[in-house]
Amino acid sequence: MSSISYWNQTGEKSHYPRLDHSISTDVVIIGGGITGVTCAYCLAEKGIRPVLIEAGVLADGTTGNTTGKITVQHGIIYYKTAEKYGLDAARAYFLSQKRALKFVKSVAQKESIDCQLAENTAYIYGVNDEEWDTLQREYDVANMIGIETELLENSDFPPGNKGLLAYKGQYVFHPVRYVEGLARAAAAKGAEIYCDTKAIKLENDVPKIVHCEGDITIEADHVVMATQYPFYDGPNLFYAVLYPKRAYGVAVRAKRDWPDGSYINVGDPARSIRTHVETDERILIVVGESHDTGRGYGDMALHYDNLIHFADQVAGVREVLAKWSAQDYDTPDELPYIGRISDHSNIYVASGFRKWGLSNGTLAGMMIADLITTGNCQYESLYSRTRADISSSFGKAVAGAINPVIELIKSKLEGTQDIEGIKPGEGRVIRFKGERAGIYMDENGNVTVIDITCTHMGTELNFNSAEKTWDCPAHGGRYSIDGKLLEGPPKDPLKVLFQGKYEELLSEIQD
Ligand SMILES: Cc1cc2nc3c(=O)[nH]c(=O)nc-3n(C[C@H](O)[C@H](O)[C@H](O)COP(=O)(O)OP(=O)(O)OC[C@H]3O[C@@H](n4cnc5c(N)ncnc54)[C@H](O)[C@@H]3O)c2cc1C
Repeated sequence: MSSISYWNQTGEKSHYPRLDHSISTDVVIIGGGITGVTCAYCLAEKGIRPVLIEAGVLADGTTGNTTGKITVQHGIIYYKTAEKYGLDAARAYFLSQKRALKFVKSVAQKESIDCQLAENTAYIYGVNDEEWDTLQREYDVANMIGIETELLENSDFPPGNKGLLAYKGQYVFHPVRYVEGLARAAAAKGAEIYCDTKAIKLENDVPKIVHCEGDITIEADHVVMATQYPFYDGPNLFYAVLYPKRAYGVAVRAKRDWPDGSYINVGDPARSIRTHVETDERILIVVGESHDTGRGYGDMALHYDNLIHFADQVAGVREVLAKWSAQDYDTPDELPYIGRISDHSNIYVASGFRKWGLSNGTLAGMMIADLITTGNCQYESLYSRTRADISSSFGKAVAGAINPVIELIKSKLEGTQDIEGIKPGEGRVIRFKGERAGIYMDENGNVTVIDITCTHMGTELNFNSAEKTWDCPAHGGRYSIDGKLLEGPPKDPLKVLFQGKYEELLSEIQD
């Protein structure tokens, strides 16, 4: 089964043209996920005609590969934010996310977007005393900042729980249908949308110039980077404060019934469940198995097996309809970066959503549209790249194991395997002509050897056996087995060193 998400399989995509000539505009938005499309819609509502460019097609990035929960329940976040920044910051986080939910609900209604938006209760559950304790702390802070929650001990569902924290009035939707509908509405209000149009360079001049593939340029006063990983770094050192995390998802037809609602666990491995109703049929969506990108261990296909096994425990698996994986970025203090990349800059960032970007991306689109049209926005300081505590958070990150700079050094020191004995469908890191390289053998015994030095910042890539991709542990760049760039901050493909039969490769190495 190919790794196309349930949402991308079932959500129809509109055709938008490629940008084939240079233009100038007030605002260019780079990236056609929920962040970019929300920003385009909000600007178009305010009478600005933004240009949105997307490298592939709309919602094909992380947005189309999510769980589709739109909620203020973001794992354990409120007591941690209160501890780091105080109760007011935790309250501001809640209120800002609530604003994003309200936006989605009202715009889906106003624009008649048929995206199966459904209200439900979002539960977070613990399976042992420590996690139950964590839930109680989250509950206490939630109460203090005005979130209506309920603690439930030893509930019947999910299997093995010790207790749940319930948030009423949350939502789930079909993310691809939502973004498609929102884009149609934005275009109808004057936004210009171009797909298959990749930005490759940004000149921070007056006006700013975005260079796209095919020698096309876009001159603009404002540039919105809605690309997940920021396309342009400026003074920000984003490479040191954004950590890519990969997670997996399955959609199944079940044998038994299961309760409505969204569920996520406190601990690891991550388990996130929701129900989707497609023409009266209930589909069970299970997402989880999160790990640092490029740093999953062992047979990565086991991530899918583990999720299917969990789905089987929950409701019995009758048929697996889709399997997919996607990534998002964490930050040192677990809050995203939304806003100007530096004081007074007209370049905007929206990243570090920690797998809660359906609401955070919506919020980012709204905030950036406000910044562009009025010069300021609510919650700007909470999400600012230069927020007060960032330096101490950065210190923590450097000390931790997931620092991208450390990943770069570590990756150079890791060992290699022999070429002999490689099997069809397998990828290995080998030595080829004295250098580290990646080899992949296809089902017909053909092998491809590529230079696995990431073209972004030189980190060595690792093979993901679930997706058959080469993934970068530092910043989340991902490439196909023949070196094509699939995702993330790099701009160039990998160099192919050899392509042919396995026997030919052996004789080339021996020569
Ligand atoms: C497995 C998983 C499940 C998740 N589930 C949920 C959930 O249930 N609820 C929730 O709130 N969040 C969830 N998230 C997080 C959330 O989905 C993401 O944070 C959010 O979709 C990010 O949206 P985005 O628009 O910023 O990025 P994306 O959707 O990734 O869009 C970025 C777009 O930019 C384009 N792009 C990149 N570079 C360029 C370039 N140079 N030129 C032109 N275009 C470019 C890409 O092609 C892409 O389409 C989940 C994340 C994962 C990994």
